[in-house]
Amino acid sequence: AKGESLSICVFGASGDLAKKKVLPAIFSLYYDRHLPENVRVFGYARSKMTNEEFKEKIRESLPCRISAAGNCDDVIESFLERMHYVSGLYDDPKDFKALDQAMAAEEAKMGKKAMRIFYLSIPPSIFVPVAQNAARECSSSTGETRVIVEKPFGRDLESSRELTSSLAEVLAEENTYRIDHYLGKELIENITVLRFSNIMFQPLWSRAYIRNVQICFSENFGTEGRGGYFDNYGIIRDVMQNHLLQVMALFAMEEPASLDAEDIRDEKVKVIRCIRPIEMDNVVLGQYKGRRDGDKQLPGYLDDETVPPGSKCPTFAAMALFIDNARWDGVPFLMKAGKALHKRQAEIRIQFHHAPGKLYKKQLGSASEMNSNELVIRIQPDESIYLRLNSKIPGLGMRLDQTDLDLQYKTKFSEANLPDAYERLILDVVQGDKRLFIRNDELEEAWKLFTPLLKTIEDDQMAPELYPYGSRGPIGAHYLASRYNVRWGDTYN
Ligand code: NAP
Repeated sequence: AKGESLSICVFGASGDLAKKKVLPAIFSLYYDRHLPENVRVFGYARSKMTNEEFKEKIRESLPCRISAAGNCDDVIESFLERMHYVSGLYDDPKDFKALDQAMAAEEAKMGKKAMRIFYLSIPPSIFVPVAQNAARECSSSTGETRVIVEKPFGRDLESSRELTSSLAEVLAEENTYRIDHYLGKELIENITVLRFSNIMFQPLWSRAYIRNVQICFSENFGTEGRGGYFDNYGIIRDVMQNHLLQVMALFAMEEPASLDAEDIRDEKVKVIRCIRPIEMDNVVLGQYKGRRDGDKQLPGYLDDETVPPGSKCPTFAAMALFIDNARWDGVPFLMKAGKALHKRQAEIRIQFHHAPGKLYKKQLGSASEMNSNELVIRIQPDESIYLRLNSKIPGLGMRLDQTDLDLQYKTKFSEANLPDAYERLILDVVQGDKRLFIRNDELEEAWKLFTPLLKTIEDDQMAPELYPYGSRGPIGAHYLASRYNVRWGDTYN
């Protein structure tokens, strides 16, 4: 609105995430005119840099993409004019006061009201002092102050509760935005649209027609020197307790009363609370080992110098989860996530029961479960949705085969730029839309589900099954799936 300004401050502005994701996303929003002209972007970190040095460092990571907004180089210059760097310590209120003054000086030029957004792009060890100092010393005196917190939100139920209560001392829940960048992905937002706006899916979305659901995430690279951070968390905390569980909740929740953030989050909490405690029997852990590939030696997890020798940290996990409610009773939800696998991909695969009766049994073959319908929502890369159907092979005679009804985003929506997840989420914060952010009770339920499992794994020093770098993961994952009469979809494609 007129007379209002917006200041966004990124803490940890010298770091990897700020440069790779956060500042480019803010720039893209500015470029596409989603941010007001009266916007100022502040970077804060300990590193000593002049304003100019900071801008030069950031300039090279600002993306120019095709847009109606005009000449990108001009927009970059006008964006950089709005940027300021403040160097300071994370635990010294004086330095935060200096930041407050720098922000206030800019805001005074622009209007009476100022909204402030703080993005904590810093290691978790300093979340609390930074949030507290920012809230105490730098809250806007004329408008709202919102704080974006990056994962990890603790490493178990207890530490997560501590973090939540320390943040709550200075920040209202309504101003705390816990970001899970997975929820900003185009296809994840589309899950609810697909489910609740298409009548054809509504009757199918339950145990009556769905045989199993697979939620899979794989990366085709290892920790590559960042194992120090990873080793303290492992794949379950890094990907499953947050991203994949969120996907599962959106997939399985009941229809919310409205699209309001609280209504959606109420339904997510409800369904997470219905998930049966995870038994160790339903979990397979893995860790990648080195492999020779022609002349190249692909490193194992333990070859990463930042990983403690002999670490048992899982870089892969597969598990079967069950939702004990009327809709999903008995349906296995199989989750799988791993590093250093054969491809980089994330998808939800829904396998339906096979068609009853024997009409086409001969043509389909005896393994009729292989020929049942599947709906696949590919989250990344190459966003797409496809539905696998049995169909007659054209020509004389009666031969059947499987074919896909395929919606590929790249071809169907070629005109549209798919915004980066961070872009969507930062814009939501500016607009005060909390639909895609994690509420404290949701986080609490997620940790309640995973903490006992993590504790067993760590207390019992469970040894992961080794799998070669670049493979499909440990064989145990296939045994786990077959116990529930499931084949991982990606293994026979
Ligand atoms: P980072 O580069 O390690 O840290 C960001 C900045 O924080 C650094 O430039 C450094 O700035 C300061 N810092 C680092 N270690 C510190 C320490 N021990 N004590 C005080 N300050 C320290 O981290 P990042 O990769 O940008 O990630 C930021 C946050 O986002 C983390 O919580 C991470 O878990 C989360 N995250 C990262 C990614 C990613 O792709 N990188 C993805 C998802 C979530 P100064 O020394 O200049 O102060």
